Amino acid sequence: MLDTDTITAISTPVGEGAIAIVRLSGPEAIAITSQIFEGKNLQEAPSHTIQYGKIIDPSTNEVAEEVMVSVMRAPKTFTREDVVEINCHGGMVAVNRVLEIILAKGVRLAEPGEFTKRAFLHGRIDLSQAEAVMDLIRAKTDKAMSVALKQMDGRLSKLIQKLRQELLETVAHVEVNIDYPEYDDVEEMSHAMMKEKSKEVRDELDKLLQIAQQGKILREGLSTAIIGRPNVGKSSLMNTLVQENKAIVTEIPGTTRDIIEEYVNVRGVPLRLVDTAGIRETEDIVERIGVDRSRQVLKESDLILFVLNYNEPLSEDDMKLFEAVDGLEYIVIINKTDLQQQLDLDKVREFAKERPVVTTALLEEQGVDELEKAIADTFFTGDIDTGDMTYVSNVRHIQLLKQAKQALEDAMEGIELGMPMDIVQIDVTRSWEFMGEIIGDTASDSLIDQLFSQFCLGK
Ligand code: GDP
Ligand code: ZN
Repeated sequence: MLDTDTITAISTPVGEGAIAIVRLSGPEAIAITSQIFEGKNLQEAPSHTIQYGKIIDPSTNEVAEEVMVSVMRAPKTFTREDVVEINCHGGMVAVNRVLEIILAKGVRLAEPGEFTKRAFLHGRIDLSQAEAVMDLIRAKTDKAMSVALKQMDGRLSKLIQKLRQELLETVAHVEVNIDYPEYDDVEEMSHAMMKEKSKEVRDELDKLLQIAQQGKILREGLSTAIIGRPNVGKSSLMNTLVQENKAIVTEIPGTTRDIIEEYVNVRGVPLRLVDTAGIRETEDIVERIGVDRSRQVLKESDLILFVLNYNEPLSEDDMKLFEAVDGLEYIVIINKTDLQQQLDLDKVREFAKERPVVTTALLEEQGVDELEKAIADTFFTGDIDTGDMTYVSNVRHIQLLKQAKQALEDAMEGIELGMPMDIVQIDVTRSWEFMGEIIGDTASDSLIDQLFSQFCLGK
C-alpha cells in the first residue's frame, strides 16, 4: 500500500458555495470522526449513509457544529479508502473549526490534489483523469473548470484508447499478412494498409491538437494587453474590468484553503490582464522600441484592448498603434464619450477594418456591457464552447499528442520511401507509446507483447 495515513481537507463541491464540507480519507477516517461525533454510532453505520449529529470539541466538550456526516467505506469511494464527509451548515467559520478539531486528533492536512492522487494510485482513475482533476484544482474560471470536468469524464482517455487500439489492430493485421502471406504483393498491401491507418489516426490527433490550443488558453487565461496613449483611460478600464468581474474562487475537493488566485472572468472568458507596470510600459512602447519591435511584443498577447480618446483628434501616436496591432486580435475602445467629440469615428472604423469598435464613458460606467460582450464574442466566434468537444488542456498532453502525431508522420514518410515494414512499425509503435503515456499506460509491455496477448499469433 502506498499511503496509509488518514488525510483531511475542506472540500466544498463545485458550484455549491453555500455548503461547506470537511472530508477525511484513510483507514482512520471513520474511527476518528466517531470520537468527536455525537449521534448514531458511525462505526456501525452502513456504508453510503448520512447521519445527523453534532461535532464536539474534545478540549472544551462543547458543541462546535451541527452536521450531517456521510460514511463511505472502501472500496466504493473516490479514493478507494474509507471516506467521511462532514457537511457543516455554519459556513466557513464553522467548517474551519471542525477542521481544526480533526487536525487536533492527529489527522494530516491533505496537500492540494492528494485525494485525487490516492484515487489514481489505487487505480480508481487513470492518469489523464487525475491530471484533469489537478487542472480543476488550478482552474481559474467556470469555463476552464468545465473543460477540466469534461476531461475527467474520461472522454480524452476513451478517444486515445480507441486510436491506440486501431493502430494495434493494423499492426496485427500486417504481422499476420507477413507471416502467412496469401498473396505475393504482401509488402505492398501492408504498406497501403499502414499508410491509410497512420493518416487516419494522424488526422484525429491533429484535430485534438487544434482544440487543445484553445483549451490551453482557457486554462491559463487570455493574456490581454491594454494599450493607448497616456491619459486615454487604460487604468480606468483595468479597474472597471477587475471590479465588475471578480475572479471566481471555488474550493474544490482535495484543495486546501490557501489556493486563491485573482483572475478576471468576463462572461466566461478568463483574462489575464497585464499588470500596471506592463501597462505603463506599453504606453510608450511604440516610442521606445518602434513599431516592428512593439508589434512583436503585442503579438504575444492573445487579445489587445486599444483605447482611444473621444475628446481628442486622432494623433500620430494613435496611427502608430493602429499599425502595431494590424492583423492581431484587438478591440477598439473609444473612451470619454461624455466629453466633447473631437475624434473622427469614420476614420477610426476605417482603420479598425472589421475589428469591433466600442464606445465607453468609463467614468460614468457607460458602455461596459457592450465592451464585455465584444470581448466574449471575439473569443467565442471560434465556437469553442460546443458541448461535445473533447478538450485537451494539459501541457503534457499537448506535448505527447504532438510527439504521437510526428511519429505517425515519420511512419508515413517511411512508407513513401519504401522502407521495410519492420522499420515503419518502429514509428507506429512510438506513436502508440506516446499516446499510452497520456493515459498513464506506460506499461512495461511493449506493443508487440500486447499484440501477442491480444491476438495470439502463436508463432
Ligand atoms: P491612462 O493614463 O490611460 O491609464 O488613463 P487613466 O485611466 O489614468 O485616466 C486618465 C484620466 O481620465 C483620469 O483622470 C480619469 O478619471 C479620466 N477618465 C477616464 N475615463 C473617463 C471617461 O470616460 N470620461 C471622462 N470624462 N474622464 C475619464
Ligand atoms: Zn494609467
